[in-house]
Amino acid sequence: MATVFLKPEREARMRSGYLWIFAGEIARIDGTAEDGDVVDVRAYRGRWVGRGFLNRRSSLTVRLLTHRPEEIDEGFFRRRLADAWASRRRMLPGGLDACRVISGEGDLLPGLIVDRYADLLVIQTLSLGMDVRKVMLVDLLTELLAPAAVYERNDPHVRTLEGLPQQVGWLRGARDPVVEIHEGPARFLVDVAGGQKTGFFLDQRENRLATATLAKDGEVFDAFCYTGAFAVHAALGGAKTVTAVDSSADALSLARRNAALNGAGERVQFVEANVFNELRRLAELPPRFDVVILDPPAFARSKDALPRAVGGYKEINLRALKILRPGGVLVTCSCSSHMDETLLQAVVAEAAVDAKRDVRLVESRGHPRDHPVHPAMPETRYLTCLIIEVR
Ligand code: SAH
Repeated sequence: MATVFLKPEREARMRSGYLWIFAGEIARIDGTAEDGDVVDVRAYRGRWVGRGFLNRRSSLTVRLLTHRPEEIDEGFFRRRLADAWASRRRMLPGGLDACRVISGEGDLLPGLIVDRYADLLVIQTLSLGMDVRKVMLVDLLTELLAPAAVYERNDPHVRTLEGLPQQVGWLRGARDPVVEIHEGPARFLVDVAGGQKTGFFLDQRENRLATATLAKDGEVFDAFCYTGAFAVHAALGGAKTVTAVDSSADALSLARRNAALNGAGERVQFVEANVFNELRRLAELPPRFDVVILDPPAFARSKDALPRAVGGYKEINLRALKILRPGGVLVTCSCSSHMDETLLQAVVAEAAVDAKRDVRLVESRGHPRDHPVHPAMPETRYLTCLIIEVR
């Protein structure tokens, strides 16, 4: 096995448990290895660091799998997958019908995402090391979870950074790609082939349930509603009306079916529009909403994009505050690790000053337990959800 030696000053971060080694941190590679192979990693003077996937095509050149000198064979992956599943069984008392089974680095399986939608699994292999082991991983997942079918959603842009092509399709048992799942009291249709990401935003599950408790008798505005998950939960929570907006016609057609499936078709109105325009229009009218949900896509995909992204977050939060009645609640989210809790909080505070409203941060929320964070890797904490009371 080849060995990657780190530059002298790079050892400290490795000791923190950090899993990524960038090209610029590497002093030399001894021995021969193919990209995708497992390599040993040692500090400059030879001190043991760990073992991980090599990919010289990526600036993220090594992703550590372990800090122990253990064999990285089929048994290793079988144990890691079983361990992650045992965690879900223990940590999700609400049920395992729809959950993230494997959450990449957070489960010490760098670049591997597996979502479970009823009897169907969706897999993403986002690192070369995982991608070349795809068949084995699907075998092991089949052994562990006995899914009826496995779908590959290998179309995220990050794959290109690893030199991997975009690829989607059935790996096991082709069938209807629209599957019904349960989430708390709600039922949802998830389109694993045509939907965004793996089909559904499982990471917002608990935040949707929390929001539903605030919706009773209220008028709710769900911005960036996708297939209507927040909207449906708000309706089931007793909202008088829900207005839900998204720019994707495909998402909205499934959203309408989801509202009907939950007997909420009458109370939820779906609007195909750009949220920025819709909020601008509504902000000119007297404030009429009791709850506003903002769950935008990641405006800041990189640190460089942050300054512009902050402007976008500021604008939607400002207008959301303007359309809320006194006593209303803003549920504002960011799914970008760059736009973290501290920054989002500051954006809302500034927006409140501009909107001449008083605000109270009543709850700060994040990931559910099936989207674990690696404590040494701040970039694995990407989701923030603030619940703000507005006067
Ligand atoms: N709240 C959803 C997830 C939202 S994902 C849930 O709980 O399932 C973000 C959504 O924003 C996507 O559906 C995307 O189509 C939509 N979107 C992105 N930019 C938009 C814009 N400018 N106006 C309206 N919708 C937008």
